[in-house]
Amino acid sequence: MYTAAFTRHLIDWQKQSGRHDLPWQNTRDAYRVWLSEIMLQQTQVTTVIPYYQRFLARFPDVAALAAAPADDVLAHWAGLGYYARARNLHRCAQAIVTVHGGKFPNSPALLAELPGIGRSTAAAIAAFAYGTRAAILDGNVKRVLCRQFAIEGFPGSAAVERQLWALAESLLPECDIEAYTQGLMDLGATCCTRSKPDCTACPVAADCRARQQQRQHELPWPKPRAAQPERSAFFLLIDDGQQLLLERRPPSGLWGGLLVPPEGDPAAVLAGLGLQAEECRNLPAIRHVFTHFKLQLTPVWCRVRPTPGVAEDSRVWIAHRALANAGVPTPFRKLFAERYGQPAADTPD
Ligand code: SF4
Repeated sequence: MYTAAFTRHLIDWQKQSGRHDLPWQNTRDAYRVWLSEIMLQQTQVTTVIPYYQRFLARFPDVAALAAAPADDVLAHWAGLGYYARARNLHRCAQAIVTVHGGKFPNSPALLAELPGIGRSTAAAIAAFAYGTRAAILDGNVKRVLCRQFAIEGFPGSAAVERQLWALAESLLPECDIEAYTQGLMDLGATCCTRSKPDCTACPVAADCRARQQQRQHELPWPKPRAAQPERSAFFLLIDDGQQLLLERRPPSGLWGGLLVPPEGDPAAVLAGLGLQAEECRNLPAIRHVFTHFKLQLTPVWCRVRPTPGVAEDSRVWIAHRALANAGVPTPFRKLFAERYGQPAADTPD
């Protein structure tokens, strides 16, 4: 059977070519297994090894860890990052001592109730410490399964994650759960890596759908980009018949340092400038896309009498014919070109 072949090949490969000499292997000590699994979350094996050894030397068993001051635990974690893991580690050790009599439970469900232990970590601890048949599904395993079985969709979404859990459970072997679990981890860490999967060395390459379809780099799907927020704003083309009034934006922020028509509620902007418009008219709105948001800008053309008094350092009257050379952002450059016949040219967004 297809899935059985995946499981069998992985177990055989792990036994022959997988990793067997990591400091937390070759033990059934649930404390050591648990400690390594927590340290390995978001951290590479080579980084973890010296921390793991120092930590064990200072806290040789769960009782020693539970009894230690929190500061001492954090000091031995310092440099590993993600400090919530250290705080949860300490709380978990205390729960093991006070609630479970100093012994880690062998049930993944009970383990997953402890601080800092999620479903996948619980399964790994139960498999390595007690030989319990339970499925793991961390980021590496998701990547392997998405490629091997061409699972479409972002694996972090609830629907795809449910599908992956069901698949992971269906692939579990009847025996050799330790070699199988370690094999999945080894495959994700050494062959089926994120950016350069080494399919030529992969023990499950023959049936891999991603390899067959040459889609290794498309799977798993990346996280969908969040919908861009949309803003809208009025910009006043205050026009005295020969010139337009522009304002220089502050040096940082949107259009920093560029000249832009005054922005805001038309009546309020005109009142603030002490101007009265003879005529005001909304022009067609312009949509402009920035990196993090979309802007719908509505130009409002306002005819005013010539009023030189409103110009100052950050506010200038620009002759229609000179607008082409003014440092204005692209949407206004195009608008001015259409309205005042100036050639459009590349300017900053
Ligand atoms: S064949 Fe390549 S893409 Fe498929 S599981 Fe193996 S390493 Fe990953």
